[in-house]
Formats: sequence, C-alpha cells, structure tokens
Amino acid sequence: MAAQPEPMGFYTDTTVCIGCKACEVACKEWNQLPSTNGGVGTLSGDSYDNTRALDGIHWRHVKFVEQFTEDRKDGRWLLMSDVCKHCVHAACLEVCPTNAIIRTEFDTVVIQSDTCNGCRDCISACPFGVIEINPASGTAQKCTLCYDRLQSGLEPACSKACPTQSIQFGTIKELKGRAQKRVDQLHQTGEKRAYLYGADDKMLGGLNSFYLLVDKPEVYGLPPDPKMPSRNLKLGSWFSALGAIVVGLMGVISFRNRGANAGEERP
Ligand code: SF4
Ligand code: SF4
Repeated sequence: MAAQPEPMGFYTDTTVCIGCKACEVACKEWNQLPSTNGGVGTLSGDSYDNTRALDGIHWRHVKFVEQFTEDRKDGRWLLMSDVCKHCVHAACLEVCPTNAIIRTEFDTVVIQSDTCNGCRDCISACPFGVIEINPASGTAQKCTLCYDRLQSGLEPACSKACPTQSIQFGTIKELKGRAQKRVDQLHQTGEKRAYLYGADDKMLGGLNSFYLLVDKPEVYGLPPDPKMPSRNLKLGSWFSALGAIVVGLMGVISFRNRGANAGEERP
C-alpha cells in the first residue's frame, strides 16, 4: 500500500512580496480561468490592485495595503498574496449538501465541479470570503492547491512562479519550522511586529495556507478570530427541533380540547 503523503500547503512571507502578480497570472494560466469582463480591464482606484477580491475566476489575489503619511514622504506598502486557507476544520466542506467539497490525501480542500449544484452554501460558510461562482461553469470554485499538479509530483503554479519565494510550498511541518526561523530573524533585526497567522491549531485546527504578517490581521482584510459556522447551525437546528415539538404539542392539546368540547355538546 502506498504511504499517505504528509499534509502539504503554503507558507506566505508577506515581507518579501514585491506585488508583481506573477502568482495571479500563473494561477489563471494553469487553471485556465476566464478573464474579467471579457478581457476589458477597468481600474479599481485602490492602489495597484485591479483584481479586487478572490472569487470564482480569481483564485489568487495580491492585496496592496498603503500605509503612508499624508504628504506621502514616508510609509510602506503591505503586500499579501491571498488564497484559500485549506483549513484543517473547513466550514465550506462541512456545509456542502452534495459532498462536492472533499479533503484530499494532501490534507487540502478541493471542490469537485461535477457534483456542485451551485447552492452557494459554501460561499456563505467560508469565514475568509474565498469562494464564488465561476460564471463559465456555474459552480462554486476556488484554489485547489493545484491538486492535479500535486498528483503528478509537481509544485503548485503560483509558488513556482513567485520570484521572491514569498509563497513557499512544502509539507506543513517543514514550512512551520522555516516560518518560525524567519519570524525570529525579523525580531532580531528590529521588526518586532512579525508573527504567524494561522500556523497553529488554535485557528480552525490550523490553516494549511498560513502567513507571516507585520500588522494586525484586519489590516490585511483577514478575520482576527475566524469561526466555524456549524456551531451556530447546530444551535439553529436545536431551536428548530424545539419549535417543532412545541407546535406538535399545541396541536395535540387543541385536538384533545376540540374532542372534549364536541363530547360536551353531544345530547
Ligand atoms: S478558506 Fe474558506 S474555502 Fe478555503 S478551506 Fe477554509 S473555509 Fe473552505
Ligand atoms: S509572485 Fe510572489 S512576489 Fe510576485 S506578487 Fe505573487 S507573492 Fe508577491
């Protein structure tokens, strides 16, 4: 029997991203994702970001966060290539009614288009706003962590294309070690704000695509404490069940009352 591969994923060091978008282009090219607006580009007006967000046809999105003084003489860009986090506890997978979302042998999360019915449940459930409908297929889509390439022993297209190794691919164990060394190095050289987002299992059991950040998660548009919606769903279904019992009991009581009244009226 073939050995089960170790969990694989991405470690993204945002401090070395140069915003070149080679990752976005490589992703689009490999996965044959359609262009936006039929290829007619429009400017967002938001720094150098014209991709705007992750969606069904953008499985990578390079964010540009400008932190400048008013006269723009001093400041910095925070650049971050965002993607599906391939959560160990994945909300999208949990809510999918057709089991179209699967966990692969690499511990990554993949949507199978042929069994997706486009109900959008996963879109609402993902705490990171990763999934959208791809208009070309009419199904929910997102990063597959290049499942087809992994199955052939190849590296994902985005990390292979990244010229600065901001996106690194490997086993989660190895990536965590590498990322922690980088945090220590940054602390020693004076960047005390460096930390890892999603590398430990406190966040949704761990994110198989985790980040080195140098500001609060919200600054990068990331939730500080993402939650599984299933807890709310479970609470909701308890309330629904309780409601059904109450309605049922009221029905029995009113039926019995009607029977008693009919008996009294009978001569
Ligand atoms: S980030 Fe969203 S889409 Fe990706 S695995 Fe987690 S819940 Fe699913
Ligand atoms: S390819 Fe690398 S350096 Fe270029 S935008 Fe993507 S993450 Fe940043």
